[in-house]
Amino acid sequence: KHTQQASMLIEQDLRSQVAFFERFLGPYPWGNDKLGFVETPHLGMEHQTINAYGKKYKRDAGGYDWLLQHELAHEWFGNLMTHEKLNDAWLHEGFGSYMQPSYSLYKFGEAAYNHSMYKSYLGLKNCKAIVLDGDITSDQAFNPDIYGKGSWTLHTLRWLIGDELFWQATRELLYGVNDTKQLAYPISPRYRNTDEFIAIVNRLTAKDYSWLFDVYLKQAQLPELDVIQSANSLTLKWNKNSLQGKPFPMPVPVQINGSLQTYSVENGEISIALKAGDHVVIDPNMKVFRYLPIIDKCKAEQ
Ligand SMILES: [Zn+2]
Repeated sequence: KHTQQASMLIEQDLRSQVAFFERFLGPYPWGNDKLGFVETPHLGMEHQTINAYGKKYKRDAGGYDWLLQHELAHEWFGNLMTHEKLNDAWLHEGFGSYMQPSYSLYKFGEAAYNHSMYKSYLGLKNCKAIVLDGDITSDQAFNPDIYGKGSWTLHTLRWLIGDELFWQATRELLYGVNDTKQLAYPISPRYRNTDEFIAIVNRLTAKDYSWLFDVYLKQAQLPELDVIQSANSLTLKWNKNSLQGKPFPMPVPVQINGSLQTYSVENGEISIALKAGDHVVIDPNMKVFRYLPIIDKCKAEQ
């Protein structure tokens, strides 16, 4: 049984979390029914309108209980919008996981967001492609990489296309429309697949971001940036082996002597002039999802 204090915290935090979801996404999908949580021995499971939850509500380092927020996110990512095939399970868990740092940003600001993303990065297993081919089992589909790598893919996409288009694409994925404030209950659930999300992003941005999804979603290996620095130049090169020959014109933020600028790396390589003593930090805010030697290439093989 929850103590009275835990119940008060749950209610207070749930109200704030629903406000977050309704602001960026749209109406709680089951407003004609209820929003319930039932205490179970199992840690958490997303049952529509009555999530199973067994973590004894403790606010963690993020300032709220990440699991309660995660299960609530599944009312949108999983219950309102359901993956068409198991191969698209990241639409539940990648988005579902990215909602915790996004909520941290909304509620507490940049430092909380970065803390949450950095923690997720250090926990990456990094063994599998997010979207797997062929007939897969539920266990294969819900592997750890669809959570963390899915979340990081969305982090970089959001940086690249901006907040407004990112949330618009997310609303269209969920509800099929952008102007979700006008929706009346009951709201129809829908099946979605990965290619539909990519098509939404490409239509809204009037650009082709297939290259980003091809690398982040469809291959196991993360892109690697080769950095060659001499006294008078800095060369950044997207490593072709890490991309398995695919194009990857991902821009890269570079900070030189404290001044930050984003460089376009259209043909996979760029050289920047330096002066002696220049201090360089590549992507100081970790906006670009890529392999860094602070994680394993694949944890299972260790
Ligand atoms: Zn989940």
